[in-house]
Order: sequence, then C-alpha cells, then structure tokens
Amino acid sequence: MDAGLCETCAHVKTLRNDRGSVFYMCTLADRDARFRRYPPLPVRACEGYERAGERPAAPGKSS
Ligand code: SF4
Repeated sequence: MDAGLCETCAHVKTLRNDRGSVFYMCTLADRDARFRRYPPLPVRACEGYERAGERPAAPGKSS
C-alpha cells in the first residue's frame, strides 16, 4: 500500500492486525485536532510531516 508521506514520517505508528493488514496511525492526533488518527491514505501533503530521523540536533551539540 502507498501511504504517501506517512510512510516516512516521524509521527506515524504502524499497526498490524491478525490478518496482516497494516494501519498507519498518526500520533499527532493525540494532541492536535488538525490531524486524524487514521488519515485517508495516501497522504500527499501534511503540515505535520517531519521525516523520521531528521529532527534538528539539540543546541550546542554540533559535530
Ligand atoms: S503528521 Fe501527517 S504525515 Fe505524519 S503521520 Fe501524521 S498524517 Fe501522516
């Protein structure tokens, strides 16, 4: 399944049921009403999108 942006988003949690179906749950929905817990897929544009693993480093921690 093509989930669009959710596939690589830091805010997604994937769930698999007994039949092997995968669901994409948006964890931002817990604290922001603009987001749906189970967004219609594929998501092609999203204000909350943040690529997993690309969060900015903490201040003062340069490499
Ligand atoms: S913030 Fe947007 S792209 Fe990220 S998981 Fe939620 S709906 Fe998907």
